[in-house]
Amino acid sequence: MYTVDQIISKLNDPNQADGDLIRKAYNYASEAHKNHKRYSGEPYMTHAAAAGYKLAAMGMGPRTICAGLLHDTIEDTPVTSEDIDREFGDEVLFLVEGVTKLSSVRYYGTDRHNESLRKLFVATSQDIRVLIIKLVDRLHNMETLSYVPEEKQRRIARETLEIYVPIAHRLGMGKLRKELEDLAFPYVYPEEAKRVKKTLSSRFGNANEVLEKERKTLQKRLAELKLTDFNTSYRVKGLYSLYHKLKIKEWDINAIYDLLAMRVIVNSVEDCYRTLGIIHELWRPLPKRVKDYIAFPKPNGYQSLHTTVTTQNSVILEIQIRTKQMHQEAEFGVASHVFYKPPTVSDNSGEKKPSMFSSLVPALFQPFSRRETESEKNLEKSASTPHNQKIPRWISQIGQTYHHESKNPTSNFVEDAESDFFSNRIFVFTPIGDVVDLPVGATPIDFSYAIHSEIGDHTFGANVNRKPARLDKELNNGDIVEIVTRKSAKPSPKWLHFAKTSVARKHIRAAIEQSNKI
Ligand code: MN
Repeated sequence: MYTVDQIISKLNDPNQADGDLIRKAYNYASEAHKNHKRYSGEPYMTHAAAAGYKLAAMGMGPRTICAGLLHDTIEDTPVTSEDIDREFGDEVLFLVEGVTKLSSVRYYGTDRHNESLRKLFVATSQDIRVLIIKLVDRLHNMETLSYVPEEKQRRIARETLEIYVPIAHRLGMGKLRKELEDLAFPYVYPEEAKRVKKTLSSRFGNANEVLEKERKTLQKRLAELKLTDFNTSYRVKGLYSLYHKLKIKEWDINAIYDLLAMRVIVNSVEDCYRTLGIIHELWRPLPKRVKDYIAFPKPNGYQSLHTTVTTQNSVILEIQIRTKQMHQEAEFGVASHVFYKPPTVSDNSGEKKPSMFSSLVPALFQPFSRRETESEKNLEKSASTPHNQKIPRWISQIGQTYHHESKNPTSNFVEDAESDFFSNRIFVFTPIGDVVDLPVGATPIDFSYAIHSEIGDHTFGANVNRKPARLDKELNNGDIVEIVTRKSAKPSPKWLHFAKTSVARKHIRAAIEQSNKI
């Protein structure tokens, strides 16, 4: 279990007050969860501590870290909102409540709802930090998924791929996205995961050993040429993204050039170009694979030099060269920008920036398309921005794109996104928190048929927000709807006056026809 000192040691420039606050939250959470265990048998606090640690390691501020430590207290322990408010203040409370609210949004299990669910998720979170805490929470849950009962594993893993991964991607959090994908992949597609692993090992045996050897060669060469202050790392392409690429390349692993990648992190832009020159002298570059994203950053702000080379051992290697700053942005995306506490700003004003969220909304509301476009060409696709800009350029640019595409370019894009999307659809919940996406004007009858035609056909009554409601009541966003069924109940022709969805209308007509025949 991470200790509180390990967490505090990850803070950028911590002061006494930050340390004290985190210590207090750590002890408070330990006490609140003292009687709980994880499926693994470990104390529940291991989970809360892991969330806090991951947030600290990403460079998040002290209150976000506190909220990470406390994120399950309101939901799972006797601790109340008032307690959190009194002990930690309204900002921590706001974040913890945000995370708690999100846990009522549940994956419905069908592709048809995914887009709505992602949007609902984003809309519900209200503050980007809530989303980031939730992602980190999910990352630790995925790391410990093997202890969870088998029947739950697949649903959680699918939810991770369908909902959390696209959100991490939108936030430019490349590292977290890759981790989530590779943890979920074997649970969702067990056969495919085995096949990808086998294909990979048949090509390279131990790919990490191959990479380690090439790295030594490069390190030696750089040092010989007096480039001393640099850092190298390498990675094998994530299994899940390799899977998508293999499908496209008809499982020909030799057609994939970014399977093995090495990264060189240097101190300055000048050193980036110098390193590129040294590498091209050492190893033969492949034509048309040299990309200068430093001089020409990607639309999302991503900066690096890319090249692909063949080494003396005939290993094809993608190499990325970037500065430390570019690296931080590429790894943590939006988290690397907004949440660094500016050293000159006091604690009280440093962290909370709700306006950031508004700026991000359009990015998150863009269609979450299947990757394999621009992204697949790059190692751990990254969204980031040139430094020294308060609002990352990729965010404002995406905002502009969104404006451009929408009908009303002058309106505020948050409202725009809302009116565009929420004017057509509403989201209502089942009593256990599953989300159902319906057209505006839908009634409990539509809800009933959306759940199952058998339930629709035997609808007797409905409770909306735990109170009895008429079957023709128009539902609102966020309503909790419960259907009361009776064996003897059957569809009435009157239902056709207020059923909005074609699914409901079709079943009602069919049932009426059936009963007329008899
Ligand atoms: Mn949790």
